[in-house]
Amino acid sequence: MTALNDPDAIVEITPSAGIQVPRYGWRAKCLQRLVRMGLPVPLSFAISADAVRAIAAGQTPDPRQLAAVIERADGLVSIRPSAANPAWGGPGTVLNVGINDACHARLVETRGQAAADALYLGFVQSFAIHVARLDAEAFSDNEVGLAGALRAYEDETDEEFPQDPARQLAEVLRSMARAWDGPTARLLRQAKGAPPHAPLGLIVQTMALAIGPGVTGSGSIQLADSSTGMPRITGRFRGQSQGRAKAEGAETLYLTRDPRGPSLEEAAPEVFADLIRYGVAARERLREEMLVEFVVSDSKLSIIDAVRVPRSSRAAVRIAVALARDGIIPTEEAVMRIEPRALSDLLHYQVDPDAPRDLIAKGINASPGAATGQIVFSAAAAQAAEARGERCVLVRRETVPEDIRGMHAATAVLTERGGMTSHAAVIARGIGLPCIVGASGISIDTRARTMLAGGRMFHEGEQITIDGTTGEILAGEAAMLEPALDESFTQLLDWADAHCRIRIRANADTPEDARTARMFNAQGIGLCRTEHMFFDDQRLPAMREMIFADKPGDRRLSLERLLPMQRSDFAALFEIMAGLPVTIRLFDPPLHEFLPHDREGMRELAESLDLPLSDVTRRVEALSEFNPMLGMRGVRLGITVPEIYDMQARAIFEATIQASKNGEAVVPEIMIPLVSARREVELVKNRIDAVAAAVRNETRKDVTYRLGVMVETPRAALRAGDIAEHAAFLSFGTNDLTQMTYGLSRDDAGRFMSAYVGQGVYGEDPFHILDREGVGELVAIGTERARSRAPGITISVCGEHGGNPESIAFCLRAGVNYVSCSPFRVPVARLAAAQESI
Ligand code: PEP
Ligand code: MG
Repeated sequence: MTALNDPDAIVEITPSAGIQVPRYGWRAKCLQRLVRMGLPVPLSFAISADAVRAIAAGQTPDPRQLAAVIERADGLVSIRPSAANPAWGGPGTVLNVGINDACHARLVETRGQAAADALYLGFVQSFAIHVARLDAEAFSDNEVGLAGALRAYEDETDEEFPQDPARQLAEVLRSMARAWDGPTARLLRQAKGAPPHAPLGLIVQTMALAIGPGVTGSGSIQLADSSTGMPRITGRFRGQSQGRAKAEGAETLYLTRDPRGPSLEEAAPEVFADLIRYGVAARERLREEMLVEFVVSDSKLSIIDAVRVPRSSRAAVRIAVALARDGIIPTEEAVMRIEPRALSDLLHYQVDPDAPRDLIAKGINASPGAATGQIVFSAAAAQAAEARGERCVLVRRETVPEDIRGMHAATAVLTERGGMTSHAAVIARGIGLPCIVGASGISIDTRARTMLAGGRMFHEGEQITIDGTTGEILAGEAAMLEPALDESFTQLLDWADAHCRIRIRANADTPEDARTARMFNAQGIGLCRTEHMFFDDQRLPAMREMIFADKPGDRRLSLERLLPMQRSDFAALFEIMAGLPVTIRLFDPPLHEFLPHDREGMRELAESLDLPLSDVTRRVEALSEFNPMLGMRGVRLGITVPEIYDMQARAIFEATIQASKNGEAVVPEIMIPLVSARREVELVKNRIDAVAAAVRNETRKDVTYRLGVMVETPRAALRAGDIAEHAAFLSFGTNDLTQMTYGLSRDDAGRFMSAYVGQGVYGEDPFHILDREGVGELVAIGTERARSRAPGITISVCGEHGGNPESIAFCLRAGVNYVSCSPFRVPVARLAAAQESI
């Protein structure tokens, strides 16, 4: 038996028919629900996906069966696609199948000449263009008229327009089945997540005619606004129109009463009242805001279809929350319905998706949101623009610590080099600034103050728009949508937290970051990068002075300068976080990020340190490393110059005592970076214990702390069992762990990443989405070994992956206790973690 002979190949959609989505598609199921609700749905049939596949392969349905369907459907039908998922689309609907000369003559009697002509012409046009695949130009113009279109068809095909309704139906079915199989349709739906051989069912439905006497026409209605999600009746109603067919007197009416013109509400009040009633009922029964398609035929209402209301991210949140509040869906379903990434659309300005885009180049979308501003090529120019009250985009080859003030002054940042974890990317995400990095298609000339992009030359002062959500760089100003941190957003995230099995902390370096973290309900600070506390024009010299000091006396003096700054920063963090855990990472300054790069920078440094330029040059040379990311970083600095960590430990303990006086008792978490051997932990721990004892003695106050270790080197992951014996917690620094596992520079990978991803060498940028197979295995091994020696140890991930939904899913399964990410990514992380927990 072939699929076409199967008795269920074509079934009538009745309340009790066995309609399942995989077999007949989503639209068939939806129509059955509308039928079950008792809505006036015209008689409809569902054709199974197996039957459609057979038709596409060349089999012909039994003409007697098709003739019977058309007869039961009163002679005229529409055909609609019914894919398993509405997002996958499908071939366009064909209306009025079955119309021929005889039917046309009957319609002239019942509906008048103009209506009958318009309906027949509409079908001849669709059939000629979409089924017979004739040149659209000869048919698309309504001026051709019915007789002209029929003649053109005969001229082109050398045969009469098909008069047999069953043949018309068979051909429409075949052309729709084949269109679904075409390469373009396949690519389009695969881009939306459809499998390569996604099934397609088809719907055959009795036509409700929207052209004829009385109040007659077609339209759609929805009860929630697509951009805001607020309750609002919107839609359209076109009198005397159906699909492409329009008759004389065709006009667009407002749905509700409107001073600007006639409305359906006034023209047919009972029809309008029924539509509202059906819309409300559909929302409750289908558990979704629906866009209802309808036809009014001489004041008789038919519901022909319903689809989910299309919606912006903010509307999606508001609709899901309202459905849960009305008791229509459970709260966990509301949580599951929102794509976590969509939340970041709500936190930032977005380029209006409907506005024109003048695209000039693309890069890595390192920090979401969009902003327009005039191009500036230096931090100083950014600050000057800010002082003038002008918005600017800081465009750099890559950023260095001196650029921080410029980044704060700018509305967006664009760099030619760098990847997801480069300096610009990390800082921009931290302060919620739109940022694109690794835009290798642009070329900057800082001397001439120009940027070449998309074959066009841009000068300092010209406007560009950075879309950090998509990675697109646009010329000029683009229309924007505002952020929407409304009450629905807060409610959704509160529900998410109630279901979440892990905790979400924030990476926060400054009091301002900490306040943002609290605003987004982070459950603590999981990483405070203390060296970032000195990324500021006022403070950078103090940090550089400390790095530069090569005599113990000089170093002591510079540390004495740093101590009060650190103490007050830590005290502020503890106070803002009010009893929530705060993890402070001891210094990890990759030296190249803190040393000047050019002569100009060295001259400025010599000035600020009051040293001869030659001394500075010599010292920079002495400190320069071939490979700074693998050099004197992290704990290596702490072991070789232990006074530095001593100073930090003292600042932490003194701040703890200060903050505990004003609020809840604080137990600081102190974390050691870039560890690769257990002995490193022992040495640092001994010194911190000694500092704690000294502070206890001096102040007569009890101070305690929890010691943690960052697992950022493959060796630390493999030796996590040994290390765990000395630590209360381990935190995987997956940025460095990725860099070292792949042997791939965080700062340089952006240059070739798109080529690598494009050719499938890497499935994704591993600095963006955690590599489960390699880096992930190290995380799993490290977690398992640590827990086998220290079962109660706390384990977390604090690399940038902590804010990425796919990576969070992995972390949750690997058994981590919390993830920590940039403050602006906390909402996305809360939702992603909740979805993974439900
Ligand atoms: C890491 O390496 O993952 C990390 C969090 O530390 P940083 O990004 O500061 O090197
Ligand atoms: Mg690191």
